[in-house]
Amino acid sequence: SNKIKIGIVGYGNLGKGAIEAIKQTQDMELVAIFTRRDPKDLNLNVPNVKTVHISEAIDYKNEIDVMLLCGGSAKDLPEQTPYFASMFNTVDSFDTHAKIPEFYQSVNEVATKNNTTAIISVGWDPGLFSVNRVMADAILPNGENYTFWGKGLSQGHSDAVRRVNGVKNGVQYTIPAEDAIEKVRSGANPELKTAEKHARVCYIVAEEGADKAAIENEIKTMPNYFADYNTDVNFISEEELNQDHTKAPHGGFVIRGGDTGAGNKQIFEFSLKLDSNPEFTASVLVAYARAAYRLNNEKQFGAKTVYDVAPGYISPRSAEELRRDFL
Ligand code: NDP
Repeated sequence: SNKIKIGIVGYGNLGKGAIEAIKQTQDMELVAIFTRRDPKDLNLNVPNVKTVHISEAIDYKNEIDVMLLCGGSAKDLPEQTPYFASMFNTVDSFDTHAKIPEFYQSVNEVATKNNTTAIISVGWDPGLFSVNRVMADAILPNGENYTFWGKGLSQGHSDAVRRVNGVKNGVQYTIPAEDAIEKVRSGANPELKTAEKHARVCYIVAEEGADKAAIENEIKTMPNYFADYNTDVNFISEEELNQDHTKAPHGGFVIRGGDTGAGNKQIFEFSLKLDSNPEFTASVLVAYARAAYRLNNEKQFGAKTVYDVAPGYISPRSAEELRRDFL
């Protein structure tokens, strides 16, 4: 077939979301999933898709057009993206913002040398939020950018509450502070401290006989994670946790208030409300896989970011159709 042939590297939340996202396209086909684990152990049940050990990826060099790299940002991608970009076009979701410049350098070097195209740090933040921050900043130079996250399940903060003495299980949601958002939307361009922008809400299952007041106090005073925030601690049953708190919702807002002279305020706002963070992020990766494929065909080699990719490149529709129906 003349479909774009896709491989997935890493079978975690994002990798699973990518399988779903590819199913929703008409111009792509999933060829194989690569893992560091024994491929048999994944118990994958997707017809016509192979599960392959990561060490055999090189055998697929001529069978796969783009690899979606679905490993973790902390440990996996700093190694996996340069390695795979030496053989394949790639798309990844590297999200350690402070390390993106050095990550870009290392990927760009490999991709340029091997005539591959590697689109890095794709997703929603970084990703779609980044695109909107840049547009707002370019269009309204006299203004201020704000990013709010949530309501969202935070893995790091959930891990932190689960480590507290007497906690059996628990989750933490980051919530954007409504009053701060309203101030920003009013065009006041307020100065906001980190803790003023977000609140934290925890749902905790306590161990039998545990001191709930002590748990609440330990969470609320935890340095870095909670101490500086408005934190709400709720105790719930294990059943409630399993019923209401197993999804991974997320989202947020990019807002810029700017002034175009004569005192006219302009508010630029982009927002996402997501039931499933990994499924949405994977859907963004899949759309950008189209761009990686096309850019590579045009010999645009090296590392790219969302800033380098024109929107038409991620669309399955022709340029003509886009001009006719979407402009
Ligand atoms: P996971 O922890 O679910 O998966 C990461 C890797 O861990 C997988 O690729 C897999 O590799 C391995 N793994 C997963 N499950 C298991 C298991 N049960 N046992 C052993 N190994 C396992 O991470 P996510 O998929 O949730 O997220 C991946 C990255 O996506 C995050 O680190 C984050 O940086 C990024 N992200 C970016 C966003 C953005 O907007 N830019 C938004 C959301 C996430 P293998 O199969 O090789 O074992």
